[in-house]
Amino acid sequence: MARPSFSARLINPPFHDPGLYISFLYQRRAILFDLGDLHALSPTELLKVRYVFVTHTHMDHFVGFDTLLRVFLGREKEIHLFGPAGFFDRVEGKLAGYTWNLVDEYPYGLRLRVTEVHEERCRTRQYLCKERFHQAGNEEEAPFTRILLKEPAFHIEAGLFDHRIPCLGLSLIEEFSVNIDKEALKALDLPVGPWLTSFKKAVAEKKDPGHAFSVIWEEEGKILREKTFPFGELAGKIARISPGEKVTYLTDFLGSPENLEKAVELARDADYLFVEAAFLDRDRETARTKCHLTAKEAGTLARKARVKQLTLFHFSPRYSQLEEEIRKEAMEAFGKG
Ligand SMILES: [Zn+2]
Ligand SMILES: [Zn+2]
Repeated sequence: MARPSFSARLINPPFHDPGLYISFLYQRRAILFDLGDLHALSPTELLKVRYVFVTHTHMDHFVGFDTLLRVFLGREKEIHLFGPAGFFDRVEGKLAGYTWNLVDEYPYGLRLRVTEVHEERCRTRQYLCKERFHQAGNEEEAPFTRILLKEPAFHIEAGLFDHRIPCLGLSLIEEFSVNIDKEALKALDLPVGPWLTSFKKAVAEKKDPGHAFSVIWEEEGKILREKTFPFGELAGKIARISPGEKVTYLTDFLGSPENLEKAVELARDADYLFVEAAFLDRDRETARTKCHLTAKEAGTLARKARVKQLTLFHFSPRYSQLEEEIRKEAMEAFGKG
């Protein structure tokens, strides 16, 4: 069985602010999709955040910027934030809202990298706490290739949607996951321990098979024994590689044919789709005016994209007594009602 290396969950219940928290197992780091109200996350969870992707800066998707900044302030950390056109102005506006006269006394320096995603290019600026969050250095520019971030274990793909302003749709795609065959480990008389983490990392990074890899026997942090193996041979015996999982997050866009087609493409074969279901189909005219999807559109696009698991959020407060109806409409369109 494939065991994904990450877990993704909505930060808030579906009538509250949107946002997805993705944490990586066995790693002290996480990704945020959207910065709505973040109070449901603990400071420990927030401090794992390394990358933030803001779909757009309507308040329900961006009000948590301050919460995040507050937790990170005075730490030697870097956060990389991504957002659509106009994002620099919004971030700079937030940063300009506070007084920073004493930050040069801080022993540590927080660094914000901010990338603005346009149809054809990505622009990146940096802001250093030590410099009172004024822009540091020159702006960088790169072509927009749909892939906003690429790491050995996963990449983030984005699309631009029409919400009467540009709005990002996002997918996290794992390259593959590495699991350890416990039986094979036993048969080789090898211990379970922290060495397996570096071993999995080496498999994910496709290390040279001839490389000598050390298996370490340890107890309470003390190394008892060490034995080296040719990396390729060891991997062949104990590593089980499974295809990676995919999670897609779609919210705040008009249910136009162009948007829906793009959404299906971005969510194609996702294991988990998190999608807004702001309105019921009977209120589709309101959904159009407000540039949001209906539950029926959400379910339909999930079916067309052949996603495995559908999670709905961003319900309009007018349906506070009708939550079941929203779910039923979406699940019927999805074909799992
Ligand atoms: Zn919204
Ligand atoms: Zn919005």
